Amino acid sequence: MVVGDVTTGTELLIIGAGPGGYVAAIRAGQLDLDVTLVEKEAYGGTCLNHGCIPSKALISATDVAHDAGEAEAMGIYADPAVDLAGMVSWKDDIVDQLTGGVEKLCKANGVNLVEGRAEFAGENKVRVAHGGEGQGSETIEFEHAIVATGSRPMAIPNFEFDGEHIISSREALALDAVPESLVVVGAGYIGMELSTVFAKLGTDVTVVEMLDSALPAYENDVARVVKSRAEELGIDFYFGEGASEWEESGDGITVRTENEEGEVSEFGAEKALVAVGREPVTDTLNLDAVGLATDEGGFLDTDDRARTDVESVFAVGDVAGEPMLAHKGMKEGEVAAEVVAGEPSALDYQSVPAAVFTDPEIGTVGMTESEAEEAGFSTVVGEMPMQASGRALTLGESDGFVRVVADDDAGFVLGAQIVAPEASEMIAEFGLAIEMGATLEDIAATIHTHPTLGEAVMEAVENARGKAIHTLNR
Ligand SMILES: Cc1cc2nc3c(=O)[nH]c(=O)nc-3n(C[C@H](O)[C@H](O)[C@H](O)COP(=O)(O)OP(=O)(O)OC[C@H]3O[C@@H](n4cnc5c(N)ncnc54)[C@H](O)[C@@H]3O)c2cc1C
Repeated sequence: MVVGDVTTGTELLIIGAGPGGYVAAIRAGQLDLDVTLVEKEAYGGTCLNHGCIPSKALISATDVAHDAGEAEAMGIYADPAVDLAGMVSWKDDIVDQLTGGVEKLCKANGVNLVEGRAEFAGENKVRVAHGGEGQGSETIEFEHAIVATGSRPMAIPNFEFDGEHIISSREALALDAVPESLVVVGAGYIGMELSTVFAKLGTDVTVVEMLDSALPAYENDVARVVKSRAEELGIDFYFGEGASEWEESGDGITVRTENEEGEVSEFGAEKALVAVGREPVTDTLNLDAVGLATDEGGFLDTDDRARTDVESVFAVGDVAGEPMLAHKGMKEGEVAAEVVAGEPSALDYQSVPAAVFTDPEIGTVGMTESEAEEAGFSTVVGEMPMQASGRALTLGESDGFVRVVADDDAGFVLGAQIVAPEASEMIAEFGLAIEMGATLEDIAATIHTHPTLGEAVMEAVENARGKAIHTLNR
């Protein structure tokens, strides 16, 4: 631990140890760069500590309890009891294992780890304030820097997070008791994943959304499958409603919303979870000192080598813009480190997949049919309903479909949308197809294991070729 003001130097300085920053650090270490990684809070960033991993842990655990209680059709009669504090502690053990792993991997790759909050203090230096009283600060001079400071939950006017009545995803993933009722503001992917968790735990969930549909970033028929299942789970949706204010009432709160006509509605609940999006953490970095400015949304503009407008500074992960997803940040981290090391690396975003871990899951990659047509392709589309998948039926989860969009001339796969159990895993096959320029024929010629959900990928492709065996061809 460094006490007092000292100045040290490093070839590559990375600010933030989330998926963007730690991956950059490990790759830089592998490339024998002298690399220093500064983190103010916890290794693994939002993803490992308050995002991807905690949410997926709770989703899986909740599914175990919920599915067991709803399996009469399979001849199973169970009434599982859930101890949320126990579930959260199991989740915390997973988080500790993974964050400990990140720290060990960084050290094993020769990364110099510094704990503290960094801000730029000049063209080629940062000041790091170490946490805790009397811990002092240090100045680190760098040749190159990578900004990987991530994002935080976005607040809305009149709904400051207080950790008690108005919570963000971070607190929602650490509750020690199941709330009786919850208003969720925002029907994007985080709002929908957490609504599903709490509805399955028995919470009375109401979702209010300003736009007119759930999961507005996805195609209507994809989002519709997930919304219908959410309604079956008891979630109530109110669209076209903007949350405007709240007040304490009895043991809980009343949330007021307003529609376009100015009509006010009221929703009572124990708490409100505000999940309206995330904003980049760039305002605390004193970017002026290094000559950098952000766009209106606070994001840093980067090129296909993760470089910002300042030659020596790179930006990766959520600070570098949409899609704000861990795997996008990891790839940017790798590329940034390789570019610093002088390698001819560059980013190619054509096949960044996205997954939503709702019930059923959503997995998408590449272009939708309308996007492909707008881009000038003449398209062919194939679909396979999960109701025709033997494996989906044996899982008792046959809602949804696999859709593939391909170029009608050469048969190149352009995109896919899957809404199905394990869609997050299945989408990888289409991602690989797009990345390597595979055609429908390539996928069709690949023998898929029976009985698997992956067969639905092959069947959707065969459907696009007019050769489906297990469904009627379009
Ligand atoms: C509930 C939830 C669920 C999610 N689920 C998924 C999912 O399933 N799949 C997926 O791909 N993505 C998911 N995400 C998004 C994912 O977490 C982010 O895209 C990812 O964490 C971004 O990585 P990053 O490295 O850019 O930043 P972060 O993970 O946010 O890490 C940034 C780090 O920088 C540190 N830092 C910030 N400022 C400073 C400073 N001045 N000095 C030192 N350190 C600093 C922070 O403490 C933090 O550790 C989810 C997010 C949430 C909130």
